[in-house]
Amino acid sequence: MFHEEVFMTRLGKILSGWAITLSALMPLTSAAYLVPVHYQLTYLVAQDCGLSDEESATIAWANSFTDIHPDASPGVRPNQWTKPRYIEIRRLFHFPSSNIHEKVERNSSRARLICEFACENAATGEIDPILLGMGMHGLQDSFSHEGYGPIFGHATSQKPDYPFLRPELAEEMAEVTWNMLDLWSLKAHGIPCRNIWPVVRDDLAVLIRLRADRQDELGELWKSEVERLLGKEVPVLSRRLDDPRAPAYLKNVERVFNSFGMAL
Ligand SMILES: [Zn+2]
Repeated sequence: MFHEEVFMTRLGKILSGWAITLSALMPLTSAAYLVPVHYQLTYLVAQDCGLSDEESATIAWANSFTDIHPDASPGVRPNQWTKPRYIEIRRLFHFPSSNIHEKVERNSSRARLICEFACENAATGEIDPILLGMGMHGLQDSFSHEGYGPIFGHATSQKPDYPFLRPELAEEMAEVTWNMLDLWSLKAHGIPCRNIWPVVRDDLAVLIRLRADRQDELGELWKSEVERLLGKEVPVLSRRLDDPRAPAYLKNVERVFNSFGMAL
């Protein structure tokens, strides 16, 4: 612990000069999956699985809110980036790893930890789709953030991780999302997903390959394609910090810190 503190102090000094440069890169990189993957893909897969409209929307919202709420987002302001709390937030929610020096590995047991915690709780009757959605964020990020660690985040790479740039990786991430929702459905509702994966996979392969230059354009493309596939509108993603679900979300942030975080 002591060594870690000394290291963090030195690291903080080294990084403080870089903070503005790094933080300028962060919105590009950490949010690249935001609308297309964390929201639209999650909502579509939850619907294909057979979850209710409300539960699908809550899981997709909590997943996306993890990049939005200041108590869970990776810390994009220069004064946040090097703070131990934000490094720990990145480790718990965006760069899932056992300690702050470890590199992220896709679909690792650490990346699955919060989702599996939510599924086990659901099996005992405590059904909390917000906790599942929050965990799913890190699980999905473990693909786009593989090889990076929580201290530097993704900021050393300037390439936004749009799904179409690495479609095979995104397809693997989508299958892991599907399998986790299948487990959730079984534990929370006693039945596995309604559709079978090969049917869903072909739809997702098309989605993942949609191309656009800008994140908002890509989000619009995904929205209309998901709505076409589902034959109905996808609820608008609420970015409001005073969303009625926000207090329950924040309780879960604290719960994850208390259950899996390191003492700061
Ligand atoms: Zn993230």
